[in-house]
Amino acid sequence: MRKRVVAGNWKMNTNIEEGLLLVNEINNLVKDLSEQTRVIIAPPFTHLATISSLLKSEKSRISLAAQNCADHESGAYTGEVSPNTLSDIGCKYVIIGHSERREYYNETNEMLFKKIELVLKAGMSPIYCIGERLQEREQSRHFDVVSSQIKEVLYNLNEADIERVIIAYEPVWAIGTGKTASSDQAEEMHEFIRGVVADKFPSCADNISILYGGSCKPSNAQELFARKNVDGGLIGGASLSAVDFAAIIKSF
Ligand code: PEP
Repeated sequence: MRKRVVAGNWKMNTNIEEGLLLVNEINNLVKDLSEQTRVIIAPPFTHLATISSLLKSEKSRISLAAQNCADHESGAYTGEVSPNTLSDIGCKYVIIGHSERREYYNETNEMLFKKIELVLKAGMSPIYCIGERLQEREQSRHFDVVSSQIKEVLYNLNEADIERVIIAYEPVWAIGTGKTASSDQAEEMHEFIRGVVADKFPSCADNISILYGGSCKPSNAQELFARKNVDGGLIGGASLSAVDFAAIIKSF
């Protein structure tokens, strides 16, 4: 059975005080919701341990994700964060391959595969981000780009592991721009993504959650989430407002 998921990517926003306030607000707004939708937040690294303790003490239904991790388990990698230590402090998910990481930090598919392997080994699930740039869509290369991002990374996994992966389709032209993909564009791509996964993993593709990301907000979430292959959202800007984030979660 496919899971419904709404994940909030806070990016490099909030100090610890603001972060704790935001978690408390979200927690209050979602605690009585049905358990059908998984709620995930991805605060900055510096907040994770504190927020993890808070969520545990509140017996919250919110799960914790990191926004990135190292492509090594340990060692001389100054400034990097091991997937194992993220798991130790209570993270259940790690966002891997966000377009900002691919673009500004030159993360390659090869590196992303290494990260995904380590995230899975540490007992967490990767939220693997894929999506085309505006120019690639304008040149009608969007299906090829997304297909390569799946084949070069996820095709290297085995069946047991692919079931633990969440895919987030995030057209780069829609991230932080206020320009959302139409629900037809999203559904067309999500169906395509499921097909590419099915070519290699026929018995698993139907169970994989595929989230939409890119200027998703309360006003468009319901239409997007109503589509057959859209299993939820990865939310950037709107996840920094507890009211908007909760409204998106309630859009199913
Ligand atoms: C994101 O960065 O993953 C994202 C979807 O951002 P936004 O919702 O702000 O477009």
